[in-house]
Amino acid sequence: MGRPFLDYVEDDKSPRFVCAHCSCDIATTSALVWEGYMAHQTPAYLFRDTVNVEAFTPERQEQLSTGMYVLADVRCRSCCTPFGWRYISALSENQKYKERTTLVQKSCLRRQSPETTPTWPRFLSRTLPVEVVQ
Ligand SMILES: [Zn+2]
Repeated sequence: MGRPFLDYVEDDKSPRFVCAHCSCDIATTSALVWEGYMAHQTPAYLFRDTVNVEAFTPERQEQLSTGMYVLADVRCRSCCTPFGWRYISALSENQKYKERTTLVQKSCLRRQSPETTPTWPRFLSRTLPVEVVQ
């Protein structure tokens, strides 16, 4: 198994969202589509782009209050905490903007401003050159 490969958000100037449990990067505030989201009465964020978030269930159809969707549940790639779900596709035309977005419960994330970003070595950062073995 070993250590999971983790990505880092590439924007060092905006506040970022990190996993509340393991502090790995999840998204920048600029990737936020909607902050006041409610998912089954639970406050949540909707993100256009995330890192270190992986689907861990098969895709399924589910009827939500705004329409029928194909969803997959997502979790933190580092600590496996269930976060919410990803909208794979939306059946209603006016909900298509949600496709490929990711919903994460607010309680699963912590907002971190750039100044408080810890300076531990980012040894797996994808911004470093990667050696390719031919
Ligand atoms: Zn985590």
